[in-house]
Amino acid sequence: MSMSSSSRAKTILFWMSIAFVGVMLWKLVSASGQSAREDEPSYSEFMAKIDAGQVKEVTMYLSQNSYELQGEYVIPANRRFRITIFKEAAPDLTKTLRDKAVKISVRDLRTGDWTLTLITVVPLVLLVGFWVFLIRQMQSRGVQPLKTRQGDVRFGLGYDLHRLDAGRPFVVGGVEIPFDKGPVGHSDGDVLAHAICDAVLGAAGAGDIGTLFPDTDPQWKGVSSLIFLDQVAKVLQDRKQSIGYIDAVVIAEKPKLGPHFAAMKATLAKSLKIKPEQISLKAKTNEGVDAVGRGEAIAAHAIATLVNS
Ligand code: MG
Repeated sequence: MSMSSSSRAKTILFWMSIAFVGVMLWKLVSASGQSAREDEPSYSEFMAKIDAGQVKEVTMYLSQNSYELQGEYVIPANRRFRITIFKEAAPDLTKTLRDKAVKISVRDLRTGDWTLTLITVVPLVLLVGFWVFLIRQMQSRGVQPLKTRQGDVRFGLGYDLHRLDAGRPFVVGGVEIPFDKGPVGHSDGDVLAHAICDAVLGAAGAGDIGTLFPDTDPQWKGVSSLIFLDQVAKVLQDRKQSIGYIDAVVIAEKPKLGPHFAAMKATLAKSLKIKPEQISLKAKTNEGVDAVGRGEAIAAHAIATLVNS
């Protein structure tokens, strides 16, 4: 839903930029056409035109040493003129204009220039900014591991196992459960959180928990594994992907996990920025077989689906 609207927005932006460039080119061409029709008479020619009553209206642009006069002839019609005179010649010229009842409007050239610059530069800056935006959009699309289409679903698998030792807090799915043993790990050893991390990262094509949060890095020592899930949620956000569903199974001989599933789902969902209904949890024992069966370890498997957001 959000993906289709964002691609629609990109299409609209693309055609808007094409239209914008088109309008700019048209303006440019028509402006150059206009200047070609512009007359630049000499001072005496211009005086003659005024005398002949061919000039009815003049705009004077004042600058430090010279005045620029612009306007349109009455005859020939629709023909513009532009003439620059020295300041010293202005009183004579103004008098002639007044005698011939030519309407004079005076403007400060600096203001005129400033407005002109603004009109020319602002659309250019906007255009360049827009191009940069489009190019960055395309580049960020290139970072994504797969070409994504609406409705694409990606799968990821995660697995983890931690040894159980006496005197460690027993943390599973971000929830601490009273028990005489707990997982040994660089972090809190939360097998469920770790398996979910790997499942989600796997589906995103964004590496795994070991490369993102290495157990040689002191900053992750003794931390809650929910921090990893927070980070994973950020990775997804950057990649414009979102979790569809997570299914997981925790294998432990003891204690009973079922009664804590609601709390685990709420906790995990909060860190992953999803709804608890998007998580399914199951518990198994290992029938007394192997290390997990003897209560020496705890393990978890998880699978996650990702959709484009
Ligand atoms: Mg682990």
